[in-house]
Amino acid sequence: MSENYNDIPNLFGSMVFDDSTMKEKLPKDVYKALKKTIQDGKSLDSSIANAVANAMKDWAIEKGATHFTHWFQPMTGITAEKHDSFISPTEDGKVIMEFSGKELIKGEPDASSFPSGGLRATFEARGYTAWDPTSYAFIKENTLCIPTVFCSYSGEVLDKKTPLMRSMEVISKQAVRILKLFGHDEVKRVTTTVGPEQEYFLVDKKLYDQRKDLIFTGRTLFGAKPPKGQELDDHYFGNIKPRVAAFMKDLDEELWKLGVLAKTEHNEVAPAQHELAPIFSTTNIATDHNQLTMEMMKKVAMRHGLTCLLHEKPFAGINGSGKHNNWSISTNTGMNLLEPGKTPHDNLQFLLFLCAVIKAVDKNQDLLRLSVASAGNDHRLGANEAPPAIISIFLGDELTGVLESYENGGDYSQAEKSEMKTGVHVLPHFMKDTTDRNRTSPFAFTGNKFEFRMLGSKLSISGPNIVLNTIVAEELEQFADVLEKAEDFEAAVKELIKKTVKEHKRIIFNGNNYSDEWVEEAKKRGLLNLKTTVDALPYFISTKNIELFTKHHIFTQAEMHSRCDILLEEYCKVLNIECLTMLDMVKKDIIPAVQSYIKDLSDTAVSKASLQLSCDFEKELVTKLSSLSSCLYKKTNQLESALLDSKNYTDILECAKYYKSTIFTAMQEVRAVADELEANTASNYWPFPTYGELLFNI
Ligand code: ADP
Ligand code: MG
Repeated sequence: MSENYNDIPNLFGSMVFDDSTMKEKLPKDVYKALKKTIQDGKSLDSSIANAVANAMKDWAIEKGATHFTHWFQPMTGITAEKHDSFISPTEDGKVIMEFSGKELIKGEPDASSFPSGGLRATFEARGYTAWDPTSYAFIKENTLCIPTVFCSYSGEVLDKKTPLMRSMEVISKQAVRILKLFGHDEVKRVTTTVGPEQEYFLVDKKLYDQRKDLIFTGRTLFGAKPPKGQELDDHYFGNIKPRVAAFMKDLDEELWKLGVLAKTEHNEVAPAQHELAPIFSTTNIATDHNQLTMEMMKKVAMRHGLTCLLHEKPFAGINGSGKHNNWSISTNTGMNLLEPGKTPHDNLQFLLFLCAVIKAVDKNQDLLRLSVASAGNDHRLGANEAPPAIISIFLGDELTGVLESYENGGDYSQAEKSEMKTGVHVLPHFMKDTTDRNRTSPFAFTGNKFEFRMLGSKLSISGPNIVLNTIVAEELEQFADVLEKAEDFEAAVKELIKKTVKEHKRIIFNGNNYSDEWVEEAKKRGLLNLKTTVDALPYFISTKNIELFTKHHIFTQAEMHSRCDILLEEYCKVLNIECLTMLDMVKKDIIPAVQSYIKDLSDTAVSKASLQLSCDFEKELVTKLSSLSSCLYKKTNQLESALLDSKNYTDILECAKYYKSTIFTAMQEVRAVADELEANTASNYWPFPTYGELLFNI
């Protein structure tokens, strides 16, 4: 906060060893060699690595850093770091600050505590981190952070970054093939770009600290409905409260220093809910930056006496938080391949890429759905707020019309259509899906990108983007195979568009995705409706999906099985923790609180009776509270024994199924009774802050 807020250009990226810093700090030849590595993915030789490490260290020390760490993204979904100091002892008992090329390139964190899904036995604890020079090093809390990938001794991938980088390579290769056929020989590389919009809640830290459920599980396990919820829609884009504004200003500043392009911030639909949108960047960087954004949100909130909740559904009955993954493809020459231009009907190149996405999404609904699956996100998808669990694509009437005209071989007059719709001719390019047009679609075309809206707020964006890149690459490959052999290129492209529309148009849906009719309609169309994590995850290891990922060298079959196990295990663990927290809160907090209220009411009744006064309502209330309490006690015992039974399952999928059906239901029953007790208990007896206090007190 010491930096000058008025000098944003200087502030921006000041803690990043970015291109301009490299240029300034590195000898010319070293800079050139490093640049080549970054651009072409060539490996770096050790003399260069030493020079880079030395310059990095000097720069970092200048900025106040004392330590360095390899910063990586294990399967836990958050980032990991192990700090080492730069100091190195000298013979005369003093220290010097040292950092070698070897330390820059490779690290050996003890990997045994990171999930590997059985890939790496605990006795073989060694894991390696390797520098990813395509993502810049940065300084965070006096530590030089070096973005790295993480793998096991025998080369199995243990992180979320390696497969993402592989998927970017794969889609680049196939897209370049297609572009060549369209005459774009100048295009050498294609990158997918992502701008993830991040939702979050802010609550007062003092209140947060009084709720074990928030502390242990990130969400409220109890809470009666407050008198006011989000029904007035008065929070969405509303005035930002001073305390929140101060937080946002501080957050922006921290993110800018780290080179994160935080751009817009506003209030969301739910009270106490907000959103941050960055300017998009390449998928790899966007993933790193989104992790940093989430981390900084938590840290900066603390400084303001706030707690940032990134859980997908912190409050029942109030909108949960998601992440919108805006995704597009662009070339090294700056062309956005999903830009329709003024006349999309004639833009065969755009239509072909669009068709690759349509076909990929239709064929891989399962993968997209499971890429966003988690216990927390199950509370959102399918509830009436986030998109449903059914995958479909929103294209808008215009583009749908264009595609239909190819299918039917008829003409299409765009000018006429768009005039009819809007009466406006001056729209610079294609129609965007504005807020009031369709916010319900899980996968919407928004002008020159697709917005995948099913991600939960806490999720690393890596998984969904690995899937997107790979499934689109597969279709581009199939298209390229056909087109490279075609005699009449243009006719062949048109034929591919026609065929794709015919075979995959069932995935296009421009209506209201929240409606019951859509659920019915989707069923008729044969679309998948994988309601929960447990329904979705097993699809990951289907023959189709193993073939797809192994073919493109994204995952090995063993890695896929292990990832599936890790996610199922995580699902069970999350529910187990929630369950234990619930039992603890009922037994130690809720029942004792209600008991003292009952006691005081009874004492009052006794005193009143001794004065010959009527004590009807005390009796009535005590009767109600005590019958609810005994019901709660019974339900809690049932939950507890159900939890014990979970130990009988050795198969992880069976165990997850049991948690979903039995435990989850039992938890909901406990909650229902507890919430009714809350609604009937005097405020000063209730043991923790209510929804009203949590949501409306900032
Ligand atoms: P909209 O008004 O349709 O929501 P915005 O311009 O506000 O569009 O962008 C929303 C998000 O999409 C931002 O994070 C932005 O950076 C991102 N975005 C914009 N263009 C692209 C692109 N070509 N690729 C990836 N993300 C993009
Ligand atoms: Mg959006």
